[in-house]
Amino acid sequence: MTMEIHVVQKVMKVNDEIAQAIRSRLEAARIPAVNLMSAPGSGKTSLIETAIRSLRDTVRIGVIEGDPDTTRDAERIAALGAPVVQINTAGGCHLEANLVNRALDDLDLDALDLLVIENVGNLVCPVEFDLGETRRAAIISIPEGHDKPAKYPKLFRTADVVILNKIDLLPYVDFDEPRFTGDVRGLNPDASLLRVSCRTGEGVLGWLDWLRAVVQPTAQVGR
Ligand code: MG
Ligand code: ZN
Repeated sequence: MTMEIHVVQKVMKVNDEIAQAIRSRLEAARIPAVNLMSAPGSGKTSLIETAIRSLRDTVRIGVIEGDPDTTRDAERIAALGAPVVQINTAGGCHLEANLVNRALDDLDLDALDLLVIENVGNLVCPVEFDLGETRRAAIISIPEGHDKPAKYPKLFRTADVVILNKIDLLPYVDFDEPRFTGDVRGLNPDASLLRVSCRTGEGVLGWLDWLRAVVQPTAQVGR
């Protein structure tokens, strides 16, 4: 075994241990966490904004924002009055459990029902890092193309929900939706598959229902 592989394995082992500690911490506080993963620009922040606006009377959402450099997304969330902690990865292309664990210190967990973690926009390495989340969401937007599940299978294989976002753009883009759906189903028959447009509101109810079911798994969730 090369030295390099050995070091990588050690990093992953430490990450998994901290992720497990986060999981215990969140379980003790009875807060499920959703890890949002996607390429940059697929609409993660808009999905969070929509959830905060629509669920504010019933679900208290706290947000951890991962960003390589700016605080722009955190500012958008703060503008809605939701508790948010910014993690600046200083150019780093994914979140790691130790960063999330530290960010949790800055949130009042007793005042939350749900934690949403916006990962750094990247379809590759965020998948490898357990953040102690309860559910994983993979988001893909129409302009990115239907071939992304085939090209980045691990993200879609490990997701609990796959969100096809910006569906209002379908008439303008060459996006083969049956092929996309077939590829997602081939990789992950059990994931929820949602079609959403935050711009027109189409499918937003499905996203809200999915989040409500994460918060209250035993409740009957209707529309
Ligand atoms: Mg964002
Ligand atoms: Zn990375």
